[in-house]
Amino acid sequence: MIRKSASRSSVLLTTRFDAIVQSLGTAPNLDSALLGIVKDVRKVFQVDICLLYLSDPAQQDLQQLMASDGLGADAGPPLPHAFADTLANLVAERSEPVNLCDSQASPTHPDVSCQGYLGVPIMHQGALLGVLIVQQKARYRFSESELASLATLAAQIAGGIRLAESRSSISASLSGDKPAAPFFEGVIGAPGIATGTGHVVYARAKLEQIPDRSITDIEAEIADFQAAVEQVARELDRIAEEQGAGLTPEDRTLFRAYAMIARSDELMTSTLAGIKNGNWAAGALRDSIREHARYFEAMDDPYLRERADDIRAIGRALLNELQAREQVEERYPARTILAGEDLSPLDLAAVKDARLLAVISGHGSRLSHLAILARSMGIPAVMGLADTLPIANLDGKSLIVDGYQGRLYVEPDASAKREFRKLAARERRLSKKLRLLSDQTAQTADGFRIPLYTNAGLLSDLNPSLAAGSEGIGLYRTEFPFMVRDSFPTEEEQYSLYRQVLETFHPRPVTLRTLDIGGDKPLTYFPVQETNPFLGWRGIRISLDHPEMFLTQIRAMLRASSGLDNLNLLLPMISRVEDLDEALMLIRRAYQQLEQEGLTITRPLLGAMIEVPSAVYMVEALARRVDFLSVGTNDLIQYLLAVDRNNERVARWFDALHPAVIQALLRIIRAGKRSGTPVSVCGEAAGDPAVAILLIGMGVDSLSLSAGDLPRIKWTIHSFSRQRAKDLLRQSLKLEQASAIRTLLTRALVDAGLEALVHPGNSD
Ligand code: PEP
Ligand code: MG
Repeated sequence: MIRKSASRSSVLLTTRFDAIVQSLGTAPNLDSALLGIVKDVRKVFQVDICLLYLSDPAQQDLQQLMASDGLGADAGPPLPHAFADTLANLVAERSEPVNLCDSQASPTHPDVSCQGYLGVPIMHQGALLGVLIVQQKARYRFSESELASLATLAAQIAGGIRLAESRSSISASLSGDKPAAPFFEGVIGAPGIATGTGHVVYARAKLEQIPDRSITDIEAEIADFQAAVEQVARELDRIAEEQGAGLTPEDRTLFRAYAMIARSDELMTSTLAGIKNGNWAAGALRDSIREHARYFEAMDDPYLRERADDIRAIGRALLNELQAREQVEERYPARTILAGEDLSPLDLAAVKDARLLAVISGHGSRLSHLAILARSMGIPAVMGLADTLPIANLDGKSLIVDGYQGRLYVEPDASAKREFRKLAARERRLSKKLRLLSDQTAQTADGFRIPLYTNAGLLSDLNPSLAAGSEGIGLYRTEFPFMVRDSFPTEEEQYSLYRQVLETFHPRPVTLRTLDIGGDKPLTYFPVQETNPFLGWRGIRISLDHPEMFLTQIRAMLRASSGLDNLNLLLPMISRVEDLDEALMLIRRAYQQLEQEGLTITRPLLGAMIEVPSAVYMVEALARRVDFLSVGTNDLIQYLLAVDRNNERVARWFDALHPAVIQALLRIIRAGKRSGTPVSVCGEAAGDPAVAILLIGMGVDSLSLSAGDLPRIKWTIHSFSRQRAKDLLRQSLKLEQASAIRTLLTRALVDAGLEALVHPGNSD
């Protein structure tokens, strides 16, 4: 038999797959999501039966049938049910497709005659989620292209199934049916533990990101929604009737139809039902738009299917109108845990510090600037949860954030709360113990001084650095003052900001880094569209292409240091000597200009960041040109290991203990020693006790850390002699895997009595 599905054009299949994935994303719960899949798959692949199994982790991933289509009472399955289960388990066990027909005996049941059977695993982030099976009653062998298509679809729906599971688990726990999944696993952003209430920051224009919010005044909410509908519909009518607007008759018909849909009873009734259930109008509208769009998406007729987009467009217009009526003032809960798909550092700044206890982000990893900011504020962060749970569902929920393990607990039960309270108390005891070190300088057990500086500039004030006993600012990121404005700051504005930083830390040194925009630090008023922003126009490259901007910044920095003389100047993203030479030439020019203007300024120390692999290989030439080198491990590791620092999916490939990273660090520090150029490490890796031990062994001159990491690193330095660190470095250099190096250093930390840094909470 030749199946029509096999001859379908791939474009059509792609469209149908997109529709399946989309409706999966909008399904209200897991059961309806899975049922939607099997129905759609059965239709698209034109098969008799479709079955969907999910792994049961409690039973060694045994497959459980969760949804089926085509197993009608009269039809009867072509395979005995138990056999289908066995085959599902076989697919799961092998984690690869199984394609059987009656000419081929089943490997596990040679006696059972199969007819047409194809099963593919559903894999999510390297783990088996379940199995998708299609069956034919008549004798049939699925083709290679059908197999490829089903496997493609399985890969596409995995993320959506995972989200639907989470959604169901959260609502089941809220309704008291059963406890929520013990926790949701994300990526470690910043260490610490916090218990509080979720507050979702959402993209206001995105209907799908609207959280549920409970309301007290149902009547007022209904009135608001009705007024919004009337306003939008009237506006659409007006456009449809407007003369001279260049609209075709078809356009006018479309606008009239939009107005009718906006006013339709269906939309009104289902939204009002949501409001009457206690949800705010925006949340009720989101559900009602989802439901209507899904109805159209399920249609066979391509024209009608496309009407789902129209429904969404109307939804967005209504949302806009609702938001225009809303008061803009955000109300944060007393113990805010800020959550969002893609939070920016600016969102954190909007919450009063005292109330912000933790951060949850759908995307990003521990190297994202959001996580770096959380660390410098001393609050936990869990990143990269977007594929695991719908962030919009966290609004108003009771949450525990475990930043040590990268886990989020939603609506935790009493025993989990008790456990975390104990952990938080131990953590407080450890912090208290470490605070006793804040007045001491950092030196190894055999007396080698290692100055510890802090990183600042990400909107956080300088107090955490001062409180942590920082010996100066080793990296001041200047881009954030640029991000919070709507145009480039003037020389005067920059001057007063830099002056404040230099004064606050005087006489301690302050290293101001020149502008490093681009990558994940875009400026809204200076848009740069690039396919690969991290490999693009970034840091010093922008500064050299805009010398007028660069000179303004340098002049502001130099002027700010006048009379204080504690300025060091650092250049980011140096990948070749030409760039460094040109930047140094511009700095000299600014310096001379200021001298001619009559200012007396002590020449600052000049440094280059080593954060691009080419700079590692050119380190001798770069060192000859500057007074110090500063290693930016966040970017260096990203570029060396080809791992996007912001991408949660590849976070486990980002490893500062990768042997290649250790070799690169060793090369830089040795070159620094040979040329007498001090080397500092200012990336987040310096805040990892295991990495810090290796850096001490290499002879690093200083470290610059997030304020939150400083006390732990000071304790580490006090606990190891330089000789012991050198031994550990020697042993690490013989190992070929980061995991083995981590094990070695973890053991060394435990042996040195620093178990609390390895297993948080074990400080007693
Ligand atoms: C780095 O890349 O390690 C660094 C310190 O700079 P940033 O994180 O600002 O890119
Ligand atoms: Mg960098």
